Amino acid sequence: MPPAADVPADAAAALPALLKRYFGYDAFRPLQREIMDASLSGRDVVAILPTGAGKSLCYQLPALVREGLTVVVSPLIALMKDQVDQLQAAGVAATALNSSLDASEARGRHAELWSGRTKILFVAPERLVAPEFLAKLAQWKVAALAVDEAHCISEWGHDFRPEYRQLRAVREALAAGGRPVPTIALTATATPRVREDIVTQLGLAAPEVFVASFNRPNLTYRVVAKDGAARQVVEFVRARPDDAGIVYCQSRRTAEAMAAALVKAGVEAAPYHAGLDAAVRARNQDKFLRDDVRVVCATVAFGMGINKPNVRFVVHADLPKNVEGYYQETGRAGRDGLPSECVLLYSRGDVAKYIGFLDEIEDEAARRMSRAQLDRMAQFADTARCRRVELLAYFGEAWRDEAGEEACGACDNCLEPRQAYDATVDSQKFLSCVLRIRQKSGFGVGLQHVADVLVGADNEKVRKWWHNELSTYGIGKDKPKAEWLSLGRQLVQAGLLALGEGQFPTVELTADGVEALRSRAPVRLVRPVSKPPAPKKVAAARGAVECDEELFTRLKAVRREIASERGVPPYIVFNDATLRQMAALRPANDAELLLVPGVGEKKRADFGERFLEAIRGWSAGRTG
Ligand code: ADP
Ligand code: ZN
Repeated sequence: MPPAADVPADAAAALPALLKRYFGYDAFRPLQREIMDASLSGRDVVAILPTGAGKSLCYQLPALVREGLTVVVSPLIALMKDQVDQLQAAGVAATALNSSLDASEARGRHAELWSGRTKILFVAPERLVAPEFLAKLAQWKVAALAVDEAHCISEWGHDFRPEYRQLRAVREALAAGGRPVPTIALTATATPRVREDIVTQLGLAAPEVFVASFNRPNLTYRVVAKDGAARQVVEFVRARPDDAGIVYCQSRRTAEAMAAALVKAGVEAAPYHAGLDAAVRARNQDKFLRDDVRVVCATVAFGMGINKPNVRFVVHADLPKNVEGYYQETGRAGRDGLPSECVLLYSRGDVAKYIGFLDEIEDEAARRMSRAQLDRMAQFADTARCRRVELLAYFGEAWRDEAGEEACGACDNCLEPRQAYDATVDSQKFLSCVLRIRQKSGFGVGLQHVADVLVGADNEKVRKWWHNELSTYGIGKDKPKAEWLSLGRQLVQAGLLALGEGQFPTVELTADGVEALRSRAPVRLVRPVSKPPAPKKVAAARGAVECDEELFTRLKAVRREIASERGVPPYIVFNDATLRQMAALRPANDAELLLVPGVGEKKRADFGERFLEAIRGWSAGRTG
């Protein structure tokens, strides 16, 4: 396909220099270049990249070489503002039109647009479809359309926005003048169904689809036995006094309680959930973005629009309802590429509790679907495999390390492999007890009751059903009931037992279980997650930048000052990755400062000197 007419012939060749000049980067991240080239060649493009992979650049940089305006559709005013702030700080003529502007502000921005100086315009979809707005766009010479958070177009996605459905009509209206406007759709949502929906709903013409690995190399994953969530979270957070993070909770009430526990322990924390007044919610989010609040305790209502790059940890205090949600939520950690931690506090009790909630769903299909998703999530928590391998397998990605091993070296199961042990004798006891109960009574019972029979409990059910007469009654007296329960769950994991549905599921032997009992084959099991040893930093995540921590702290103070003068969050000035590299390289002059990844020409000119001064001051203090 010939290049679109409004792209200069040598446009693609200019990209590396522009990357350095405006954004201060020397190299493209994986797929960025390919995506930009495809888009500049005039094709429609779908870009599926995980959070932090650098999607924004994929439409921002090409916009600088196109003649005309690049229009970006974005679902939230907060997201637009964030992008515009970032671009303006980098010296790019970008603006947004949305309902938050007063009349004079809107007039000013329109004047810029009419002058043709603006390169990138962010708009909400509902504004885009208004006929009078489309008429203006026709005159503003739209060179490309970018659809950010493109999964919003799909009902199968997690943030469905009906307004996104009208974007197809917008594309048609913009094309009415002759040739179609090249469109790029971007999202971090990995499910194939959503991807297909994006292509059909937008009516993209033979798009080139780019799908990156969903691995987040700088994130570590850990699952920890839940044993007093509030205390565990407080300990975790206090062990990381300089880090910001998110604690996800199941309910509004627990989010509030968690925030209160942290505040009581002297941590700047705030709650975030749909039950809070909108103004309070916005204020808490804003404080978090500006590094004034260190920890947000939130329900899943806290999510899209959180572009804060230095989220160093995401803790799930309760089990998420599905793996997709878990991936999205943990994905908010470490956008800046620096090592960050994901910790899940897990208890089987949570699973039982949610099954209880699910039972109340009336629609049969919806109930089954939710149950299947919950089981998958529990499987992730229970697994003894590498967490990264397990997580990515959910999205259909067969992840291996460079040596071809299914081990990432940066999750609990890789770092402290849980020991497999011979459980043949106890498994035989358990399996035969399940069988005997069914033979005697003709109905199934739950794991609890099986464990009661094994330890020889004398309770009402045992007496009522005469289970004290079974040959397996009391054959497990040597161990506490909790251990038998745990064994039962491991046998479910291992596929020798199956649990039925409902809050109090009954347990049955599977075909494999029957076979194991018959053949007396050895059974090897892996112990369930336990409490972690003393909290320690997991150093295996990639992306670490070694630097002097004291100098880094000083540079953060300079950043904070500049940010508050400009009324923007600190990361708009520079992100942590840039500051750490600056602290590592310690540039002495402008030329050296420009070598620091993330320092572009505009930022260097606007506030580079203040960072150089801080570095000089620190060096003098050390030598003198
Ligand atoms: P996404 O939208 O995919 O989550 P962003 O566009 O917000 O990712 O980019 C994440 C971070 O990576 C930002 O801080 C951005 O400046 C940085 N980044 C993007 N591209 C590059 C690059 N080529 N080299 C270094 N850093 C980059
Ligand atoms: Zn691993």
